[in-house]
Amino acid sequence: MQILTDQNTAFELDELKPNLAFLPIGATEQHSRHLPLATDTILADVLSTEILANINWPGHVFLLPTLPISSSEENTGFKGTISFTPLTMRSIIRDIWNSLEAEGIQHLIVCPWHGGNFILKPIIRELNCEKKQCHLFYINPWELVPQEIYDTFARGFEVHCGDVETSLMLALQAEHVRDERIDNPTPHFKAPLQDMWSMHTLSEGEGHTGHPTQATAEKGELFKNAVIKSSAAYLQELLELSNIYKQY
Ligand SMILES: [Zn+2]
Repeated sequence: MQILTDQNTAFELDELKPNLAFLPIGATEQHSRHLPLATDTILADVLSTEILANINWPGHVFLLPTLPISSSEENTGFKGTISFTPLTMRSIIRDIWNSLEAEGIQHLIVCPWHGGNFILKPIIRELNCEKKQCHLFYINPWELVPQEIYDTFARGFEVHCGDVETSLMLALQAEHVRDERIDNPTPHFKAPLQDMWSMHTLSEGEGHTGHPTQATAEKGELFKNAVIKSSAAYLQELLELSNIYKQY
C-alpha cells in the first residue's frame, strides 16, 4: 500500500489508482497564550500519516492535504480564529466526496483533529444514506484513546490547550510551544457547555482550560503512540466491516 499525496502528479495517481482517501481536518483557531493558531492542523499533518502507515488495505491511499480551516464557532472572540459555519462544512465535505467519487475512489475517511466540527457526523450519515452504501467513514482520534491514557494527565481530557494537547505538541513540535503557560482550572467547565457558551466565556478570557504547566514531552509521546494505535485499529475494523456490509 502506497500513501499518495498532493506532492504526487495526476499521472502518478492515474497509474496507481488509489481507491481510498483520507481527509485530515485541522483548524485556524485560538490556542491560548502558549500554542499557535495552527495547532490542530500541525497535529493533523503529523499524526494522520502515522495512522495510515499502520493500516492494511489492498490498494493505495490518497492522503488529502489537511483542511486548515473548519468550524470553530466556540473559539470566536479571540484574534486569529477563522470559522466556517456548519453548513459551509457540509458543502465542503459534499464537494470533496463528489470530486473523489468521480475519480473512482471507493471510500473517504473523514478525520477531525479539531473537536468543534459537530456537523461531520450528520453529513456522513446523510451521504452514506443518499448513496445507499457506506462510502464515508468517520474517525475522531481524540475519542478513541483509552481512558487509562487520559488518566495519566492532570485532569483527564482537558479539551483545549491543557495538559494533553500541550504535551502532544511538546512531543511532536516543541519549538511551537511558548513558555508562557498558565494553569486555568475553571471548576465549572465541561466540554458540552460549549454548546451554550464560547470558550472565551467559559475560560474567562484565557482561551484554555486545565493544566498546561504540567505538560511534558514524555506524556505527549505516550499519548501520541496511543492515539496512532487506537485510531489505526478502529479504522482497520471499519475497512474490514465495509467488506461485510455492502449496503448502507
Ligand atoms: Zn486544538
